[in-house]
Amino acid sequence: MSAPVVCFRCGDRYDDETRVRCACGEPLWFDTPRTEFTWEDCPDIEGMWRYEPLLPIDRPEGVARAAGGTPLVRSSGLDDAAGCRVYVKDESENPTGAYKDRGSAVAVPYAIEAGNDVVGTISYGNMGISTAAHATSLDRECLVLVPEEIPSGRLELIAQYEPTIVQVSGDYGALYSDGLSLSESLPISILVSDDPARISGYKTVVFEIYESLAPETPDALALPASSGGFASGVWRGLCDLKALGLLEELPRLYLVQTAAADPITRAFESGAAEPTALSPDETGETIAHSIGNPDPPSGARALAAVRDTGGAVVSVSDAEIRTAKRQFAVDGGFCVEPAAATPLAGLTRLSERGEIASDERVVVVPTGTGFKELGVGDVSISTERTSRADLPELLESLLDVN
Ligand SMILES: [Zn+2]
Repeated sequence: MSAPVVCFRCGDRYDDETRVRCACGEPLWFDTPRTEFTWEDCPDIEGMWRYEPLLPIDRPEGVARAAGGTPLVRSSGLDDAAGCRVYVKDESENPTGAYKDRGSAVAVPYAIEAGNDVVGTISYGNMGISTAAHATSLDRECLVLVPEEIPSGRLELIAQYEPTIVQVSGDYGALYSDGLSLSESLPISILVSDDPARISGYKTVVFEIYESLAPETPDALALPASSGGFASGVWRGLCDLKALGLLEELPRLYLVQTAAADPITRAFESGAAEPTALSPDETGETIAHSIGNPDPPSGARALAAVRDTGGAVVSVSDAEIRTAKRQFAVDGGFCVEPAAATPLAGLTRLSERGEIASDERVVVVPTGTGFKELGVGDVSISTERTSRADLPELLESLLDVN
């Protein structure tokens, strides 16, 4: 195993490599690898394990080998909507259709190396699906704690990997801290959103973006934000590249939240160092249910990332998310889940505010596929685009035209 874990806020270091939280309460992450590194040093391996020298474990077996290596697509059809030159980093092409696989690909084998035969997670969405897939591919037990009212389609997606699923009644949102105590008292690793090994997996998305674009560099990156874990991984990746001499100036980091639950946006606008947890009457329903954490565990770190890079946090409404989802499909050809459409909606807003120039190169990260999400699109489109015909009449009319 590798480097000690450190705290971004107070700088404390811990040699206990399974520790998740600093004494000050903030989540920990692995320090920059102390190694000389250039892109030429990357082993000739597909996917995120090309950056194995910068990760805390060696390349594992199983579906983890299929994680990462997603395409970066110059998507000029989206330029008008975003108000800049758009590159799409399509994270839907991971094994379970979401960026979470980069985190699970490191965190699950890491937990097993640390001696835990059972891994688990608290999620009824992409993280539950991803963790279960990675555990079973290494022939390990997995425990997924889901809320009592989980939609049947979501349950089916998790259950296909045959983990142990427990439907928990009561305050599901409060399970996060209980999950950490379960990890401490039982031989099981509950891999939450800001687990240090997960964060180290997320940073590979940055390595891929920079290696693909080189010698060009992006002016900004735009991604959805919920727990703050992904933003933390992206910031960590940027800081690693700078420390390794592969990047001079950090790009602006733009985080986009759903207006239905946006504690990070509120803290950004008020100048606070950390978000204040939202009470149930301060949150609402949203189609972007993959995001919307009312009490983000990595919220302070996400805010620090945005301020360090000169970026911003914005919130968007469900109406704006629907528009962006449609633009992704019609103008880009991408099928993204509502949460993954938020960065495009955020860019529309930021460029209208004059924070982004039309000649700037901006990487948008749709974090998950829309193919898992039915019933969230605009139903009127299906009706408008569909007509009916009898086969003989259809053939006749087509032949007439020709
Ligand atoms: Zn600390």
